[in-house]
Amino acid sequence: MPQFGALCIRTQQYTMPTEANKVDQYQCIDCKEEVFVKQGEQRVHHFCHYKSTNCLMYRYQPTIEGGGETEYHLNAKYKMKSLIETQHEISIRSTCQLCKYTTTAILPKFENMKVVLEHSFIYRDQQVIADLACLFDEQIVFIIEIMYSHATDENKRPSPWFELYSTEVIDTESASKKIQFTCRRRLCDECTILEQQRLKVEREIRQKEYDAYMGECRKKQEQERILKEEEQRILRQQQEQERIRKEEEQRILRQQQEQERIRKEEEQRMLRQQQEQERIRKEEEQRILRQQHQEERARLESIERIRKMKLKQNRIDIERGLKKQSTQPIRKSIWGYK
Ligand SMILES: [Zn+2]
Ligand SMILES: [Zn+2]
Repeated sequence: MPQFGALCIRTQQYTMPTEANKVDQYQCIDCKEEVFVKQGEQRVHHFCHYKSTNCLMYRYQPTIEGGGETEYHLNAKYKMKSLIETQHEISIRSTCQLCKYTTTAILPKFENMKVVLEHSFIYRDQQVIADLACLFDEQIVFIIEIMYSHATDENKRPSPWFELYSTEVIDTESASKKIQFTCRRRLCDECTILEQQRLKVEREIRQKEYDAYMGECRKKQEQERILKEEEQRILRQQQEQERIRKEEEQRILRQQQEQERIRKEEEQRMLRQQQEQERIRKEEEQRILRQQHQEERARLESIERIRKMKLKQNRIDIERGLKKQSTQPIRKSIWGYK
């Protein structure tokens, strides 16, 4: 079981179970409830919660792999705070993975320096929280981050800052006067800046490539659009021409039909005229015929009348002749012909 400490209420110090006594009261560093120390013969000394609790701190044999990372993290923070406050000489060795340069920093100590856990502050316009910050006159002297699997973003803390493994802090022997940790930061400050610049240049190059690519795409799209518009325009033009051609055809057709109609009407009119003329001609013929007829009849009647008169005259003459013989001059003056 790892050595997990509790907070002594009297001293406000993180205390290991081996250092705890039966007089002082202690509280859980997580839920802040009171806990007590068990310093039996069989098991290693450890703190315990008083009653059944949901708090996972001080449970039996937690491991970092078994989901105890939060407990390790919290304990490492409290332990680190305690180590700094109890005047240990702490040095941190850093090896940069890029320039391979190794530096060893000894954490400074001066009067009235405060160690604050979960220190919240603004850095590069962002609200950040440092696991542990040493403050002097409210100014950050240095920062310590506790990690296990997730490293802190190199650009999100002001220098100087160190990153320590939670397990390394927990396993450190508190009694040692000199303690050395290994910083888990990948790069030194200089290389961080260089790396940032390199990344920035790479980003810019990628951005330029992307912009160029996008520009090319846009150009291609524009060309396609123009081509399509041209096609559309030609199509519309063709359709327009076709429409005009059809209209012209229709107009010619209508004109022809109109001419045909007029021609037919003219024919009809001519026919009717001819028929009318024919009718008139026939009527005229009829009339002439009737006239001739009448004339003939009149002539015949006249002949008949003359004949009858002649007969009558003859009869009279005969009758007169019987009496006297002077009828010739009279006959001539009345009829005037032979
Ligand atoms: Zn608790
Ligand atoms: Zn470096």
